[in-house]
Amino acid sequence: MSSTLPDLLDAWRAVDSRSVFAGRLPLSSLLRLRPLLLDSAGDVAFRLAFSRDEEQRAVLYGEVTANLSLRCQRCLEALNHRVDGKIALALVKGLDEERRLPQQYDPLLVSERLIRPRDLVEDELLLGLPHIPMHDPEACGKNVRQMAEDQEQAQKANPFAVLAELKHKQ
Ligand SMILES: [Zn+2]
Repeated sequence: MSSTLPDLLDAWRAVDSRSVFAGRLPLSSLLRLRPLLLDSAGDVAFRLAFSRDEEQRAVLYGEVTANLSLRCQRCLEALNHRVDGKIALALVKGLDEERRLPQQYDPLLVSERLIRPRDLVEDELLLGLPHIPMHDPEACGKNVRQMAEDQEQAQKANPFAVLAELKHKQ
């Protein structure tokens, strides 16, 4: 088992030697992810294990775990988002092979021998990001404050609104 992830890796050789990589990468080193984070301190824990399955298919199983600091799009404050990603990839050389893959695998197209394992870790984090980061309504600071403020504003703006509403109901 190796704790450092090489920049480039010979994927087929990693399969043949059943290579396992487990360690941590600083979040700040992931250049596609970094601009999406409110704070890029901290790191991602990964485990990537190359092997062959029962049908001698070249596969890569992995886990990717990180706590990401995102910006809530409602209150614009920090939001902690945990990613627990599971990787199950089958190495394929072309589209034909890709089409024949059983459902449990996503394809990893390896047209050259070399892959960038760091990209796989980063891809998994990117896939684990919420579409629009937002706190749960109960936990979202602005929502609670804003609702109270909005209500107050509305009443100030039209003190008779409540009366009118009462009348309307009768
Ligand atoms: Zn919020």
